[in-house]
This record gives sequence, C-alpha cells and structure tokens, in this order.
Amino acid sequence: MSNDAIPARSDILVIGGGVMGTSIAYFLTTMTDRSVTLLEKSQLASGSTGDSSAILRHHYGEETIYTEMAWWSHQFYERFSEELDAGLSYQNAPLVRFADAAGDSGAYARAGYEALHDREIPVSEYTGGDIASQYPMFEVADRYDLAVSDDAAAFSDGTDAALGFARGARENGARIITGVEVQSLEADDGQITGVETDQGTIDCETVIVAAGPWTPKLAETVGIEVPIETVREQVVLLDPPAYYTDAYPSPTPTTSFPGGEWYIRSDFGDGILVATHRYTDQADPDDYDNTPDEETILELVDELGEHVPDLRDAGIKGQYCGIYSVTPDHDFVIDQAGPAGCYLCCGFSGHGFKHGPAVGKITADLVLEGDTDLVDLEYFALERFEEHPEGNGAPLDNI
Ligand SMILES: Cc1cc2nc3c(=O)[nH]c(=O)nc-3n(C[C@H](O)[C@H](O)[C@H](O)COP(=O)(O)OP(=O)(O)OC[C@H]3O[C@@H](n4cnc5c(N)ncnc54)[C@H](O)[C@@H]3O)c2cc1C
Repeated sequence: MSNDAIPARSDILVIGGGVMGTSIAYFLTTMTDRSVTLLEKSQLASGSTGDSSAILRHHYGEETIYTEMAWWSHQFYERFSEELDAGLSYQNAPLVRFADAAGDSGAYARAGYEALHDREIPVSEYTGGDIASQYPMFEVADRYDLAVSDDAAAFSDGTDAALGFARGARENGARIITGVEVQSLEADDGQITGVETDQGTIDCETVIVAAGPWTPKLAETVGIEVPIETVREQVVLLDPPAYYTDAYPSPTPTTSFPGGEWYIRSDFGDGILVATHRYTDQADPDDYDNTPDEETILELVDELGEHVPDLRDAGIKGQYCGIYSVTPDHDFVIDQAGPAGCYLCCGFSGHGFKHGPAVGKITADLVLEGDTDLVDLEYFALERFEEHPEGNGAPLDNI
C-alpha cells in the first residue's frame, strides 16, 4: 500500500497499523467527517496481527460478553470482502472442547454450549462413543466423555484483515502512513495536543493508542500505567503425511486439550498449525527470538503424537514466534485514560483478532459518542486494576 503524506495536524490520530488500529480507523471514517490519520512505525500488520493464528470462535464459557463480540465480528468478517472491497482468507473449521463432564472442563464446555445455543450460534454436543467416531483423528475416547463443538468457528488471516481495513479507511478519506514512529504523546493542561514522531510533530486533540505490545511505553509518556506483560508464543507449521490427509476429513477441527498449553489448527492448503499458549515466556517486543526453541518443538511434537498419533511423522515446513500483550485478567483495555482526548485500546491477551471488527466499532463509538450499545464498557475499563490488581478475576481459556 502506498504512503500518504504526513499532515501538520489531524483531528484524530490512531497509533498502530494492526487489526485494531486499522479497524478503529475504518469505523471512525464511517461515522465522522473529522480528519483521521493512522500512523504505523513499520508496515501494516507487522506486530502481533501478522503472526496471529486468527481463529474465530465464539465459545467462551460463561464470558458471554466475548461470545457476543466474537459473533458480531465474525458476521462482519463474513461480509468483509463486500464491505471493504478487499480479499480476506477464510476457512470454516469447527472448534471442539473436549472435557471431563463431571469436572471443571465439563462445566466450562457446557456453559459455552448454553451461551451459543441461547444465541442461535451453531453448536453440537457429543458424548460417549460418539466422540471417537466424530473425531477419529484424535486419541480421545478413553480420556474425555464430553465434546462441545463450536460449529461455526473458522480461521482467517491477520494481514488480510489489517490491509483490508486500512484500504477501507483510506477509501473513506483517512490518511494511512507507515514508517513513522510516534515517540511520545503530548498534552497541555490535561488535554492531548499532539504527538511527537521521528519525523516531526503532528497536532491533534484526540489520539487512540492501539500499538499492541508497545502501548504501555507510549501511555507512560503522559503518565498512564497499563498493566500489560508481553510474552512470546511459538508456532510450528506441519506438513501432514499423505495417509493423514487421505484418512481424515479436512479441515481438522481446531482444539486445545484441557490443561494443555498448546493448540492445533488446520492451515490453508493441507497444512496443520500447532502453537504454544503458555503466557509465561516474557519477551521484549523489540528484541525477541523469532525461532521456536528446539526443546519446545520436541515437546509439541511429543504432545501431538500422544493426542493425534497419525501426525507423529508430520514434517516441519515453517516456524515463527509472536507476542501476546497480556493483562492480569486476560481481558481487554478499551478506555479513555489520562489527559482528555487520550484513548487506549490494548491488552488483547492472545485473543484479539476474532474481536477486531467489534473493537473497532466500540472504540469509534467511545471516541465519537462517549459510549457504545455493543458492550458494557466497564468490563474493559483501565481503572478496574486500581482497586483490584487482578482486574475482573481469574483468566479463562483463551484460544
Ligand atoms: C502467535 C499468535 C497467535 C494468535 N492467535 C490468535 C487467534 O487464533 N485468534 C485471536 O482472536 N487472536 C489471536 N492472537 C491475538 C491477536 O493476533 C492480537 O490480539 C491482535 O493481533 C492484536 O492486534 P493489535 O492491533 O492490538 O496489535 P499489533 O498487531 O501488535 O499492532 C500494533 C501496531 O502498532 C505499531 N506501533 C507500535 N508502536 C508504535 C509507535 N510508537 N508508532 C507507530 N506505530 C507503532 C506496531 O508496529 C504494530 O504494527 C494471536 C497472537 C499471536 C502473537
């Protein structure tokens, strides 16, 4: 995408060209004539978005706020190409939760089943012998007695989404500028006045920081503390043996096994993606090892062989790492904070992609109208951490 010229001022500045910044810019331009400029320090989708597994699921146990945002967003992604005149890779692949019906995993799986069923989102439940026949590729018959399938789940592509949103925003009049790094937010008398970039100052009254793992660093420049840890997750792309693709229907359902710290997802083509989901490997987003550790690859291959025996001999055809921006409760931050005109949109804790469209609309509503009809914004308020450092409480499963 070509670059727009840097303006001396813009009514609204969005910092960050990931799925969130581009979605926010797009929705803003559908709602206001005020000038909107998006600044990205590198390339669009060069942060977490470009590394995303981009799973779209709706099963969130009892956290129905996410079920509803994910469903709203998924419906937007389905009409993405039409609405934005841009391509979006997309593949339906049900997401299954295997569970012990009498245990915590069973309660979680059932709560999600009810949430989907109540909202008429396609969902199925399998018990006993039906589990093994429904999921012949997984070694699950002796381990789990309940499986809940989020039948409408899918996966997509982060780069396609960010590029499409950016294109839509630009069509509607936004400036999209890459290769410009914001160094600080500027405020005077409690009001945002602009940003300092590596190529000069841009004046504005409203700035939205959607800079992924880099958000805390920028927020600090106007005295806002955001409790986000940045952690590295590791991704391995497998080439399944021919007997696997011959034997099982494609796509392999997406799943992460109870207690496991990894997940498996089909890939475009015949590939299979496996990735860690550990939240423990703290890493600097500006300086981290992009190659999975040998030890982790061996662990993943081992776990995979135990749960999907016919993938034991799969070849490795690719690998990389990406960064999650993790809040203490794994819930998002979408809020006005610090000086008037300063908004934060961050902390997506490894599950933001599927909510990208809803987060863009919610943030545009917040900025332009002060509130939104889509969710109760208190859930995403930064101040939830002031009295209770754990925020909304113990994080749940988040793929
Ligand atoms: C390996 C991996 C797998 C994932 N899988 C899933 C999944 O299956 N489903 C799901 O829903 N979510 C998933 N996620 C999470 C999801 O990808 C993220 O929540 C989402 O991409 C966050 O988008 P963002 O726009 O907030 O951040 P980012 O994509 O990180 O974008 C922030 C942008 O801001 C720019 N920036 C930073 N600082 C500045 C500055 N000072 N000036 C200008 N620009 C700046 C950066 O260069 C970057 O492009 C996954 C994430 C990873 C890493």
